[in-house]
Amino acid sequence: MSDHYSALGVTRDASADEIKKAYRKLARELHPDVNPDPASAEKFKTVTTAYEVLSDPQKRQSYDMGGDPFSQFGGGGANFGFGDIMDAFFGGGGSRGPRSRMRAGQDALIRIEVDLAEACFGVERDFEVETAVACGKCHATGCADGAKPATCDICKGRGEVQQVQRSFIGQVMTSRACASCQGYGSVIKQPCSECAGDGRVRARKSLHVKIPAGVETGNRIQMTAMGEVGPGGGPAGDLYVEIVESEHPFLVRDGNDLHIWISVPMSSAALGGRVMIETLDGEREVAFKAGIQSGHTVVLKDLGVSRLRGGGRGDLVVHIDITTPSKLSKDEEELFKKLAKLRSEDESTVRVHQRDEKSDSGLFSRFREAFHR
Ligand SMILES: [Zn+2]
Ligand SMILES: [Zn+2]
Repeated sequence: MSDHYSALGVTRDASADEIKKAYRKLARELHPDVNPDPASAEKFKTVTTAYEVLSDPQKRQSYDMGGDPFSQFGGGGANFGFGDIMDAFFGGGGSRGPRSRMRAGQDALIRIEVDLAEACFGVERDFEVETAVACGKCHATGCADGAKPATCDICKGRGEVQQVQRSFIGQVMTSRACASCQGYGSVIKQPCSECAGDGRVRARKSLHVKIPAGVETGNRIQMTAMGEVGPGGGPAGDLYVEIVESEHPFLVRDGNDLHIWISVPMSSAALGGRVMIETLDGEREVAFKAGIQSGHTVVLKDLGVSRLRGGGRGDLVVHIDITTPSKLSKDEEELFKKLAKLRSEDESTVRVHQRDEKSDSGLFSRFREAFHR
């Protein structure tokens, strides 16, 4: 015969409370509902038998004196006091209580498209969302005509019903959510005609969001409690506004820096000059020195995108492309020939050269692709 004290892992002088605690802990691990392993089922049977004996003062005394407490019940099977065992299982009373009709609402996500200037400087937007709001007709109770949910007749408001099932250890009592009230413990006899008992309805809501300077695609702005209201008047979830930045026709963003490409005629490149270009801040002058090469850049400080967490703005990097005239008049052709002679330039001066890291930091090829997409 197995030792009931060691089965529960308690000493022979353990108090009733210690025995109950030990059994509850083991039962939670070993119950066939949570642990399908056959070895656990066998152990569960053993600890349950031990508990059945040791939790009853009379049986415990009889066991301590060397008797077999089950002999008086005949058949040798465990015939459990369900209440005691279910008490041990569910922490007394066996009741987890009805679940609330009121539940928290879902978070929601909406995408808002902004252009580059809006992303750079920030913008405020009005927008509408389709969402769940509290039903005004029943004030979120879900009941028609100002009524309140009535106590469920089947479970008497407990939200659960107990079922007795036969199993290898005898009968086991299990609790299930009451099917009549879905576990709420109450029923709405006449649901509100507007929300059908949910306590909320679909509606379009007008909202306003402040988009900070420096956002980029994928950034989310959290609007607390602006999501869906929960069933039964539960608290609203949050609304997240996700930023989608649209492409600019000629500015390419890389973090907080912006890049722009300009074509400079060969003669201007040779002589140096200044041009006006359109930036996010209006027209700005780009000055380039005589002899500038294709791939060189001119950096305009602080004309990039604002840093989201403060600290000023990125730069605007102007990439120079030098254009060679493709069609020459007779006069131009003569002048070029004259110039070439003057400079002693002909095919023999064309040579292979090393890639100029300074003029092409990899950005050009990287962005050329993005730009000419
Ligand atoms: Zn019920
Ligand atoms: Zn309603």
